[in-house]
Amino acid sequence: MLYQSTREGKSTHSAAEAILAGLALDGGLFTPDCIPKLSLQEIDKMKRQSYQDKAMTILSLFLDDFPKDVLSKCVQNAYNQTTFDHPDIAPLVKLTDDISVLELYHGPTCAFKDIALQILPHLLMSSASLQKDDRIYVILVATSGDTGKAALSGFKDVENTKILVFYPDAGVSEIQKLQMVTQEGGNLKVIAVRGNFDDTQTGVKKIFSDETLRSQLEDKHYRFSSANSINWGRLAPQIVYYFSSYCDLLQRQEIELGEEINFVVPTGNFGNILAGYFAKQMGLPIHRLICAANKNNVLTDFINTGIYDRNREFNKTISPSMDILISSNLERLLFLLCKDASEVRGYMKDLSEKGRYKVSEQMIKTIQKLFWSSCSNDEETIQRIHSTYKEKDYLMDTHTGVAMDIYYKYLADTADKHKTVIVSTASPFKFNSSVAKAILPDDIVKESGEIALLTKLSDESGMQIPAGLKDLDKKPVLHQDVVEKSNMQDSVSEFLDL
Ligand SMILES: *Cc1c(COP(=O)(O)O)cnc(C)c1O
Repeated sequence: MLYQSTREGKSTHSAAEAILAGLALDGGLFTPDCIPKLSLQEIDKMKRQSYQDKAMTILSLFLDDFPKDVLSKCVQNAYNQTTFDHPDIAPLVKLTDDISVLELYHGPTCAFKDIALQILPHLLMSSASLQKDDRIYVILVATSGDTGKAALSGFKDVENTKILVFYPDAGVSEIQKLQMVTQEGGNLKVIAVRGNFDDTQTGVKKIFSDETLRSQLEDKHYRFSSANSINWGRLAPQIVYYFSSYCDLLQRQEIELGEEINFVVPTGNFGNILAGYFAKQMGLPIHRLICAANKNNVLTDFINTGIYDRNREFNKTISPSMDILISSNLERLLFLLCKDASEVRGYMKDLSEKGRYKVSEQMIKTIQKLFWSSCSNDEETIQRIHSTYKEKDYLMDTHTGVAMDIYYKYLADTADKHKTVIVSTASPFKFNSSVAKAILPDDIVKESGEIALLTKLSDESGMQIPAGLKDLDKKPVLHQDVVEKSNMQDSVSEFLDL
């Protein structure tokens, strides 16, 4: 299988090359030139496999230039009892006869990014070795909070790599910040940027495409790559859990083979839900992919009108990992739907020049058949966390709270009876001050900091504080730099001694 840039339309790269490069030179995203299919019988067979074996089944179809033993090592190193605190890796929890929750947060940093970022460093290093490439890979990350820590945790002290993480100084939670600034490791650095996530992401994209910098890197035997969800090596592993949750429902005899189900996905950069689209195209019986947004509802408007318009106010919400106005992975969907790189180039040109584009009538009709979208604000989210906890004894984080709330909006709008999986993207402890507001008395929340609230939340819910969040305040702060967004490039030069 070959990969092509969404803006070029020529399939020229192997999976290994696409993973190493991260982003195509023309600014496009690498996308497979065909989507492999699994029959219902093959899906049925998967239901008795472990998560690791399911990952092998899916990944070997997309990364067909990886020898099986190499890929198997990557999978085993990523998904095991040391890296994840649940034997199922991505457990499916039944809430009612119609609703299950897919918990993707059992990795070391307590957010769903771990599923991809525990395996990406192994995929990247295996790719380099397949390509006989002995350069040092420099991973540049722009994070709205969760990617940063997950990437640091995955790449820490990985040979032949260095990792530099930029986060918006006012855009991440106290816990997210502590997780990053206390990160140990000899090959990494964390820097705060004065600005929001979009500023940070734009800065990193600029650094990526700077010609002068690239030739300086070459002289030093360095090469940039990306751990953001624009990297195909991050997207492919996310397809696996759509299959695993379907198989779990089959195995529990909650659905029949071939029965269609819905997924509700808390969405920011459109990476997670796009993996669901791939699963559907591979043959997984999915009825609707429900795109859940917070007040930054650029995707909701897009799915409902066909107009993508980032010219709007940026809102800080209690689900910060979804505070995004430029959803990079949407470009892959547009390309997959029209298969026309020049059409995609046109949309992306409009986006960068006018901050807005409108897709063809035909394209938006196709999108609306498969996707449904709505948005919920902070009050609705808190209320939903509260009611789900009181009525169903299930505690969820704010991002999952958005998804749950939107599921009920979907039901009210469509009366759709398909069984539905709510994709849970973070541990409730990770965004605990907002979660505490939903279930603890006001005075306790007011007088406690985020760290103290971990214990209070654990006492109330009976859930254990995840290992990755315990004692964060006792660890030394190792990263204190703050830069203006115009100075991000200098930080890179300094980090790499250019
Ligand atoms: C990254 C993230 C999201 C958004 O996922 P995308 O793939 O960017 O759409 C949602 N929730 C949490 C907790 C996240 O970390």
